[in-house]
Amino acid sequence: MSDLTLQPFFWRPTALFPEKRIVSRTADGVTDYTYGAVGIRVRSLVAALQDRGFGSGDRIGTFGWNHHRHLETYFAAPLSGAQLHTINVQLGDDDIVYIVEDAADDILFVDPGEPFETIERLWDDLPVDEVIVMSESIPETNVNAVAYEDLVDEYDPVAETDLPDLEEDDPAGMCYTSGTTGRPKGVEYSHKMIYAHAMMVMTPAGLDVSERDVVMPVVPMFHVNSWEFPYAATMAGTTQVYPGPAPSAADLLALIEEESVTMTAGVPTVWIDLLEHIDEHGGDLSSLERIIVGGSAAPEEMMRRYDDEFDVTVEHAWGMTETMSIGSVSRPKARMDEWDRSRKYEKRRKQGLLSPGLEMRVVDDAGDEIDWDGESAGELLVRGPSVVTEYYNRPEANEKDFDGDWLKTGDIATVDEDGYIEIVDRAKDIIKSGGEWISSIALENALMAHDAVVEAAVIGVPHEKWQERPFACVVTAEGTETNEDELLNFLDDELDQPDWWYPDEIREVQIIPKTATGKFDKKALRNQINRNPTNE
Ligand code: AMP
Repeated sequence: MSDLTLQPFFWRPTALFPEKRIVSRTADGVTDYTYGAVGIRVRSLVAALQDRGFGSGDRIGTFGWNHHRHLETYFAAPLSGAQLHTINVQLGDDDIVYIVEDAADDILFVDPGEPFETIERLWDDLPVDEVIVMSESIPETNVNAVAYEDLVDEYDPVAETDLPDLEEDDPAGMCYTSGTTGRPKGVEYSHKMIYAHAMMVMTPAGLDVSERDVVMPVVPMFHVNSWEFPYAATMAGTTQVYPGPAPSAADLLALIEEESVTMTAGVPTVWIDLLEHIDEHGGDLSSLERIIVGGSAAPEEMMRRYDDEFDVTVEHAWGMTETMSIGSVSRPKARMDEWDRSRKYEKRRKQGLLSPGLEMRVVDDAGDEIDWDGESAGELLVRGPSVVTEYYNRPEANEKDFDGDWLKTGDIATVDEDGYIEIVDRAKDIIKSGGEWISSIALENALMAHDAVVEAAVIGVPHEKWQERPFACVVTAEGTETNEDELLNFLDDELDQPDWWYPDEIREVQIIPKTATGKFDKKALRNQINRNPTNE
């Protein structure tokens, strides 16, 4: 009897849908090929990994965007018995080095261009000794690098019958998520978890991904494995369209139009951008049926525009790295069919109904379950076959963030009488901007390291395009002088993070409101800033 592993995922599409297409935009141009060819190339890659001695207990790091070669490593790494570890290419240098060291990656598969330049710059600090550049050729470099296509050409595919035996509890995937304090935290996915999540995504009660769809996963493959679309879509035998490195709205629109994409997925910022692009240049979304939007709250105005102007349904989903992405989706129930549009939007704009297989509890500060009245709020706890029960190597976080096998999400939610969750706040002190995390505490500590700053509090303020942006308030010491530019330069020296990390505004204030226990009262501060956004 076979276990719930990625092996059947690999067999089904390559055996039953060998003619189905994968379309992939890369720096080398657009590649258009079939599942049949994917199957052969994946097995060549398994041979290359095995020849290097990789298998059970090893980690294969990837550092790249959404394209066919990355899809192939999604299968080759776990099918060789090793674990796929996807690393976010948008992180700052320190975090990248930390993550590669913490995960003890054995080899890195890296995109050409900027991602490779980053690895080249950090080469002496990284504990790996070989890089596979996911392209046809490699640039002149001191890094021990091999071109992906040379690797695939060099090795004969391992016969399907010779693929190593896998067990469902074997580790297959790994992702890091931002910690509120301290370093990013790793989570590991077993074969069984990926299997369970993909099955759920394929059901109508999940995301209803089917063979008839043409799916374009826009959420990056370094973000919770592109919400695991590459696995679910492959299992379903779906035509897949990969938009390549840092796709613009124009790139996405061109792919939707050319490939008749029916379903796509990503954070709200991407879809707001696409609307703006279409407003300016026009565009044809007639093939598109659904956009899955999550990662941050989907603005209702955006959902309505896609509905009204393009007949595209936006389905609002909630999830976390710790839940392998899709934890809930918002769709009206059948008995709501007769409701008018506005009433349906009351449900659709919420984060929705928990995904099949998961269970939830929403508890108040005393640990008691809240009433499902759409008003009472508490912390959302979830558990289920696709929810992790611990962080990798982080006992102190495990103590804090789990209650037995329940994951404490750090999201504050209400639940209405129909069971729809609405995320109304975040207990974790962290800001999410355009789908990427920014640690408010890291910014506060860095600001307070400045001689002139006595106190600093950083909050997320709403932003039309990025959903949230960091905003800092500082109290300065008497007799000192500083200004915003100086503090921003200081932050950059202290933290060395990408530009999007730094606050849009640093405001000097007389006092920062405090709670009864003397902590910064960020709720009060947020109210204060929202009332007075322009410093007048
Ligand atoms: P990540 O682990 O990076 O995927 O981030 C997960 C977190 O993003 C959740 O705990 C929420 O705080 C936030 N999040 C994800 N989806 C949504 C959504 N649809 N609405 C509001 N917040 C969301």
